[in-house]
Amino acid sequence: MEHNFKKKFGQNFLSDSNLLQAIVKDADICKADNVLEIGPGAGALTKYLSENAKKVVAYEIDNELETTLNNLKLENTKFIFTDALKEDINKIESNFNGEKYKLVANLPYYITTPLLFKFLEEAKYVTSLTIMVQKEVAERIVAKAGTKDYGVLTVMVSFFGDAKITRIVGRQMFYPQPNVDSAVVNITMNKKYQEIDRAKFYNFVKVCFSMRRKTLLNNLSSGLKLNKEELTKKLSNFDLTKRAESLNLQELIELYKHIF
Ligand code: SAM
Repeated sequence: MEHNFKKKFGQNFLSDSNLLQAIVKDADICKADNVLEIGPGAGALTKYLSENAKKVVAYEIDNELETTLNNLKLENTKFIFTDALKEDINKIESNFNGEKYKLVANLPYYITTPLLFKFLEEAKYVTSLTIMVQKEVAERIVAKAGTKDYGVLTVMVSFFGDAKITRIVGRQMFYPQPNVDSAVVNITMNKKYQEIDRAKFYNFVKVCFSMRRKTLLNNLSSGLKLNKEELTKKLSNFDLTKRAESLNLQELIELYKHIF
């Protein structure tokens, strides 16, 4: 295939069939599944998804890949050439007519976080996300409280689902080769905290971690514009001299519930 690889679209393609099949396995795709793929590229992963799933819908931003992808003639697969980040979530989900689906993507690094949050926060029918991301981002997603990698990303992903790294993928597996290694992360959505306002909790977590070296008391009082004495009094059951990074999700939720 003749293709002019575009750095601006994060085009680093895979071709190793063992790896591609392993990703489909990591995503736990079977014949009953609908799959949404973001960024099919030349369709290397799409072929295996199509073989194993009931239906695949794939969003690709690069129009120049249209002929290559359509020439694959994958019967249960629909390609849509537009920016998946800008596409309304209801429109994306309407491809599956109200049925559940699994998201699978070898993502360009620069859209990892916005795309992840788009689906975690807005999607109604997604049951799992299996995404190839930069190894360092994967480590932040699954980090344990108290470690340097633990932060807003970790807390928010665990608020929505259960995340695990399923494999590390070396940079040499991609063409052109990027400067960093990657990892596949699988996030199974859960509905544990549906009673909590997502946007409000996200904002609270950002405030807690706003200055990592500062105590919760400092970050909460400046971020929420609350008086320190009143906060200490109101939250007398909590040790506000701690830093946010030492609190796990459950503890952050407890704190959130006491404030709001
Ligand atoms: N899935 C292919 C593979 O594994 O070989 C390609 C992966 S490549 C890392 C990422 C793909 O995402 C590229 O084809 C790129 O053009 C596409 N892409 C980048 N930004 C996108 C966006 N906002 N919406 C849809 N596709 C996008």
